Amino acid sequence: MLHADEDFLPLIVTSPSGAGKTTLVRRLLARHPELAQSVSVTTRAPRAGEEDGRDYHFVSRATFDEMVARGAFAEWAEVHGQRYGTSLEKVAEVRPRVKGMVFVIDQQGARQFKARVPEAVGVFVLPPSLDVLERRLRGRGTDNEESVARRLRDARVELTHYGLFDYVVVNDDLDAASAELEAVVVAERARRWRRAAAVESVLRGG
Ligand code: ADP
Ligand code: 5GP
Repeated sequence: MLHADEDFLPLIVTSPSGAGKTTLVRRLLARHPELAQSVSVTTRAPRAGEEDGRDYHFVSRATFDEMVARGAFAEWAEVHGQRYGTSLEKVAEVRPRVKGMVFVIDQQGARQFKARVPEAVGVFVLPPSLDVLERRLRGRGTDNEESVARRLRDARVELTHYGLFDYVVVNDDLDAASAELEAVVVAERARRWRRAAAVESVLRGG
């Protein structure tokens, strides 16, 4: 059900926390209403302003573990001490209505996803430097000191896994990075195998 076809682009977006993937994906979706973001399941508590079902499906650890046991996840991982996963059922609900889905997941999840769906396109969002990353994390104002320190430690590890991804978008200037992410979507849609039916149609005189 996650598999790509001519009309469906599964796009994985990963970065260290604070590099800007939420911002970039929001901008991409504003310009491409035919794409939808996958809403993940998490054991993390909602932050101020977050809504159940829109930002995440917030569940207890027991519910999450029960979902793992019955194979309900396309992928899941523990990130910064909490569990996050992509529900196969939620993807199935959204997929018929869209031309692609964006999965904002960590590199462990990206690895599982790629193993399951090799033609999924992986984008790694790179912060221009670790100093800028730290500034963005503090500037966002959603994490306490301990959480910022943990995310910066984790960032160094995540950066070493960039080889798993098909594209690296450098998020220095926001407009330039947004244009790069959009270019990936546009290019992937022009893949030869996605256009095979269009070629056939032209050959048949359609
Ligand atoms: P992530 O989803 O990767 O954790 P966010 O999208 O929440 O990151 O971005 C972290 C912070 O950095 C936010 O406050 C966001 O507004 C800011 N930000 C994102 N991209 C840029 C950019 N290119 N230049 C300056 N600030 C940015
Ligand atoms: P946050 O707690 O800041 O919302 O998210 C922390 C990290 O969890 C994000 O950087 C994102 O990469 C990761 N994440 C969110 N949803 C999923 C998911 O469904 N699967 C995996 N593997 N990671 C996720």
